[in-house]
Amino acid sequence: MTDTLTIALSKGRIYREALPLLAAAGIVPQDDPETSRKLILDTRRPEVKLVVIRAADVPTYVQYGAADLGVAGKDVLMEHGGDGLYEPLDLRIARCRMMVAGRRDAKRRPGRLRVATKYVHSTRRHFAARGQQVEIIKLYGSMELAPLVGLADLIVDLVDTGNTLRANGLEPLEHIADISSRLIVNTASMKMKHAAVKALVAKLAAAVEDRQP
Ligand code: AMP
Repeated sequence: MTDTLTIALSKGRIYREALPLLAAAGIVPQDDPETSRKLILDTRRPEVKLVVIRAADVPTYVQYGAADLGVAGKDVLMEHGGDGLYEPLDLRIARCRMMVAGRRDAKRRPGRLRVATKYVHSTRRHFAARGQQVEIIKLYGSMELAPLVGLADLIVDLVDTGNTLRANGLEPLEHIADISSRLIVNTASMKMKHAAVKALVAKLAAAVEDRQP
């Protein structure tokens, strides 16, 4: 009997860039999540389904076995912590950097620095490793606004071209991590569906190598 496989991933850049890699493994969705309201997509391989969810939810679905595999940004995995997951493959897509950024003309306020971010754990770890006590303000988006309106001295965010920072008078100050999307696998699925998971990981690994030798 062929094992069924459910793969969780998010819409947008990760979905677009994962599509050619999945296609190399014969996984071609039958609907387009950008236009369809379906949350579970059938693929050309009847035993493989995709679930399209919020990026930050992908590790949770995989951790609890609601999906056998997933595609998640390293930024999201660093926040999640990685319990119940294997991370067998760097897909080398949706690449960017996690950076500390601030105003070019910043005047240091007395006392603890305030840092606005959606990446609370990564931010705490970064500043703790430098022995710097900071106050972290959790935001859900538009971090670049925080230093402009006096909500925070610094932000921690993802930077690709740097255009968003520049457009808001901010500059990158410190590099925290290089980010790319990773294939993640539920630890139980890795054992129970070993042959199917192993074959898929091998096909995706070959597709990654073919794209970027
Ligand atoms: P950029 O202006 O090209 O530096 O892109 C920065 C904006 O895009 C920020 O709002 C980031 O949060 C977002 N961003 C950049 N790269 C990624 C990525 N790989 N995944 C998710 N968001 C990203």
